[in-house]
Amino acid sequence: MKRQSLLDEISKEIENCKICKRNTTGKAVAGEGNASAKIMFVGEAPGKTEAETGRPFVGRSGKLLTQLIESIGVKRQDVYITSPVKYFPITSEGKGRTPTDAEIAHGNVHFQNQLKTINPKIIVLLGKTAAKAVLGKDLPIAKVHGAIIKEAGRNYFVMYHPAAAVRFAKFRPFLQSDFKKLQRLI
Ligand code: URA
Repeated sequence: MKRQSLLDEISKEIENCKICKRNTTGKAVAGEGNASAKIMFVGEAPGKTEAETGRPFVGRSGKLLTQLIESIGVKRQDVYITSPVKYFPITSEGKGRTPTDAEIAHGNVHFQNQLKTINPKIIVLLGKTAAKAVLGKDLPIAKVHGAIIKEAGRNYFVMYHPAAAVRFAKFRPFLQSDFKKLQRLI
């Protein structure tokens, strides 16, 4: 079966997944982009804007991520963008919250199916949650950002999550220089 059809099937599984939907709100945000992308970006979990639209990284962090992707001469539609958690996690008061370890571990099952299907050359892990979900360990992002981690035949590249740079300007130069490194790798 073609990669896009396989990805569509995975998206349907996510849309129908009762485990994913627990304590969340809004639309499923499975991921979007090129089914044969060479670069895959992995975030944390959808936010409010993503849950409203069903599209990943379209809020403030997403605008910055899109700018950074374009700054290295790559089009957003040529990469694949997703996250291990596929729905917007909320508290009982309806406020956004950090996903739990169990939610990250569950979402990672869907993510691994997407990863196998796309089989990109480089997987960019944006922040601690992405690294924990995909590599299964707590990584000190301040130390390992900008480095390639080779594991099980795959190339992972760790960066700060763009939300860090939206909140604190001091993180922006790290993201910019890590994108320059990524440009040299592709
Ligand atoms: N942050 C993420 O990690 N993913 C999104 O889709 C949006 C914001």
